[in-house]
Amino acid sequence: MMSNTGQLTEFDLIARYFSGIDGGVQSSSVALSVGDDCALLSLPADQQLALSIDTLASGRHFPEDANPYQLAQRALAVSVSDLAAMGAKPMAFTLALTMPSVDTNWLDGFSRGLRFAAEQYKIPLIGGDTTQGPLTLTLQVHGSVPAGSVLKRSTAQPGDVICVTGTLGDAAAALAVIEDRLAVDGQQREYLLQRFYTPAARVDIGQALLGIANAAIDISDGLLADLGHIAKASNVAAIINADQLPLSAVISQLVEKPQALTYALTGGDDYELCFTVPQENLAQLKALDQQFSLRITEVGTIVPGCGVQCVDGEGNPMAIDLAGYQHFNHSE
Ligand code: ADP
Ligand code: MG
Repeated sequence: MMSNTGQLTEFDLIARYFSGIDGGVQSSSVALSVGDDCALLSLPADQQLALSIDTLASGRHFPEDANPYQLAQRALAVSVSDLAAMGAKPMAFTLALTMPSVDTNWLDGFSRGLRFAAEQYKIPLIGGDTTQGPLTLTLQVHGSVPAGSVLKRSTAQPGDVICVTGTLGDAAAALAVIEDRLAVDGQQREYLLQRFYTPAARVDIGQALLGIANAAIDISDGLLADLGHIAKASNVAAIINADQLPLSAVISQLVEKPQALTYALTGGDDYELCFTVPQENLAQLKALDQQFSLRITEVGTIVPGCGVQCVDGEGNPMAIDLAGYQHFNHSE
């Protein structure tokens, strides 16, 4: 409950900015939305509910003066990305918003960004909380997944091929641009900033990987770190072939190969999926590649052992410059 909302009552505020964000879908699973003490979701008997919650605090996860339209899109995309990583279908989300004051310009931009992203991912906003304090966003996403078939981190098997969606390192390069560490031309800048501020959660491909992949994770902290979570949880080792890492044309033009690889391996915030596929399912995977017109690249192999190792084209182990490791949206 927000006590000081200036001219707007709390109820006006919720009605104006946070009602009717329905994701552009007539969802059969949302039985009751914003306005009562609770929202109600219905789940078919053969489905499980997948839940994930993330808090973004101003000054820590985003700059205080971040553009609210982009901030809302990014906040929802990174939350929905957790559903994508498990193969869950987005169902609904809730929003706990803490703001220092009622700034209608900010709220207007934030609400428009949220509506846009909700429609992109077909996920309605079904409730939340509004309070006064330092600017903080907490989003909880709810998804559904066929019972027993969810994609976990702990089920990779030796022999699996390691794959990633899209291209890696763009968000790390974008952060370098934002922080004036990297000079770019107008078009390159636009591409990189769009990759950073409005990452695309890979929800469709995530669901399509059910029954094909053995394990999956979304890349929020960098491929090495996130693949490390799969390796640890599955009690296996991962070997990445650096020559196979998918780099965008922009990154290849902008920086030398070693820097590009450092971005791709250690840069966070890309929100692509990393997953492992048994050999016998690779043909099915190839078909998906066409269906989603999204690049899927084989980047390595799961073997017995522990940890993540990176090798060059000749198979020689490579040292990675972790000193360059940096990303803005720390997931702690
Ligand atoms: P209560 O005091 O019963 O928790 P609130 O006054 O906090 O109710 O909220 C009233 C209604 O508005 C509830 O349905 C709640 O889910 C919804 N709501 C409040 N804040 C938000 C928000 N930021 N976004 C979406 N829905 C919200
Ligand atoms: Mg409340």
